[in-house]
Amino acid sequence: MITMQDKTLTCRDCGREFTFTASEQEFFAQKGFTNEPGRCPECRAARKAQNGGSASYGRSERQMYPAVCAECGKETQVPFQPHDDRPVYCSDCFATKRPSGGYERTASRGGYGRSSSSRW
Ligand SMILES: [Zn+2]
Ligand SMILES: [Zn+2]
Repeated sequence: MITMQDKTLTCRDCGREFTFTASEQEFFAQKGFTNEPGRCPECRAARKAQNGGSASYGRSERQMYPAVCAECGKETQVPFQPHDDRPVYCSDCFATKRPSGGYERTASRGGYGRSSSSRW
């Protein structure tokens, strides 16, 4: 039986040392990963958040599929496999189809502070 031990690794993004714990090593081994993580958990989480948040970040790593815009017929690329029953739009047409902003205004909690006219 192999006993795993905590390892200290250096993050290649921020250069900080982080702990590759025994349980994480077991997890990696179970998954069949032979390489150690190159980034600390924080940088990994940050990268994840960035990938989900902005489309322009890391486009070289992302698999793109050729598609034809259903609106203007222009050739474009989309980050997902296009399906026949789903129209695909180029970035220009996609932008025009999106409702333009303002959804944050529904979050206003209002009501408080309206008592300026109330009198005692
Ligand atoms: Zn880091
Ligand atoms: Zn288009």
